[in-house]
Amino acid sequence: MAQTAPETTQPVMAGPAPTDQPTTAEAAPVRTPSSMDPAALAATVAAGHRLTAEEGLAVLSTPDADTLRLVTAAGRLRREHFGNTVKVNYLVNLKSGLCPEDCTYCSQRLGSTAEILKYSWLKPEEAVEQAKLGIGGGASRVCLVASGRGPSNRDVDRVATMTDQLKAEHPEVEVCACLGLLKDGQADRLREAGVDAYNHNLNTAESKYEEISTTHTYADRVETVERAKGAGLSPCSGLIVGMGESDEQVVEAVLALREVGSDSIPVNFLMPFDGTPLAGTWELTPLRCLRILALVRLACPDTELRLAGGREMHLRGMQATSLEVANSLFLGDYLTSEGQTADQDLAMIADAGFRVLGAGERPGTETATAQAAPWAAVSPQASSPQARTAAPAPCGAAASGDAAATPCGSPASAGSGCGCCSAESVSEAVIEASAGVPAGVEPRIRRRGAGTAQAPNV
Ligand code: SF4
Repeated sequence: MAQTAPETTQPVMAGPAPTDQPTTAEAAPVRTPSSMDPAALAATVAAGHRLTAEEGLAVLSTPDADTLRLVTAAGRLRREHFGNTVKVNYLVNLKSGLCPEDCTYCSQRLGSTAEILKYSWLKPEEAVEQAKLGIGGGASRVCLVASGRGPSNRDVDRVATMTDQLKAEHPEVEVCACLGLLKDGQADRLREAGVDAYNHNLNTAESKYEEISTTHTYADRVETVERAKGAGLSPCSGLIVGMGESDEQVVEAVLALREVGSDSIPVNFLMPFDGTPLAGTWELTPLRCLRILALVRLACPDTELRLAGGREMHLRGMQATSLEVANSLFLGDYLTSEGQTADQDLAMIADAGFRVLGAGERPGTETATAQAAPWAAVSPQASSPQARTAAPAPCGAAASGDAAATPCGSPASAGSGCGCCSAESVSEAVIEASAGVPAGVEPRIRRRGAGTAQAPNV
């Protein structure tokens, strides 16, 4: 849903005394980051105040020691609008790699040498079968994604057919298409076919965009979001952070997403694939990720905020905590890399006291409701085209030849996201104690399809 809170002229909220108690919108303004009171700020937002750029910068400047207090404050807004629900979304990669665009962050870009799966369009029945795995794991939205600059009319027809078939079996499930830049009439065609939403991320600030892509412009992206909105599709548009953007640019991008009226905001944390220009870019910390999520929540209090790619390697032990601010996530794998397993995602949601939105209300989603269910039974990875070919053995790390690594004990071929048990890693970079990664932590991107019999370009 789009933000509907009325804009007010209330001043920036802050207060000298840290407190978790909401204060009134009449409290005295204090504008410096060091004295910003997150609870007071959240209270003014709850009362209808629209976060300013100055306040956004203050949020991002929150000291590490105060960041959990910020999360608690932003969490008040999350609970107010979404209760304890987590919306589960599931990605189906209809067409992987082979893109003519040059987005620097993308493993599918022109000239990328990242060893990702590359394939042309899935057949409609294959796409539907994959989507059903996600639905069985609790997904209430299926995201049909294809690489490329934008779809041909034939591509739009393919997605229309898939949507038709999927909705025939699961009319309650939302379908979101993500096909790139839209041309005249294509959004209308998708809407007529029953597609509910269209994803097209703004990704970063307009002031940063030329560094990110030269084959299309920021304005092109905004135009497609507007086309989707104009056709009655719910606009889904989000961010990628960790690409070298300044705090000012993060705030600029978030406020632009508010302005464009995004109904759902996926926040991606850069996965710097080897073979792309941003390889080796590790600048996020878990606490910075939390501050960015809190910024989005405070700027867009009633908008779906979705944890997207890279959450495992950047939020690490703070993933469950981030659900206090975010109310949505992608289940299991991403487009070209593996995430946590679906069973781990569902367990994380349940362990943190949240429940999957709609679970148990649709046929086949009972498992996602049961807090102590055998999660593995609904793991999409278990039977997807990228399925593992052998039962995973617990990670022993040393068996991989990495004597310094600490075994995590997770299934070695289950894409646990810990990184230490990656059988085949896109990024072999050993990260030194740089800005975002503490010494001894070696996050690695595990490509989708690793640990299977599939070559990266089947
Ligand atoms: S983000 Fe999309 S348009 Fe850009 S290179 Fe990747 S697949 Fe192509």
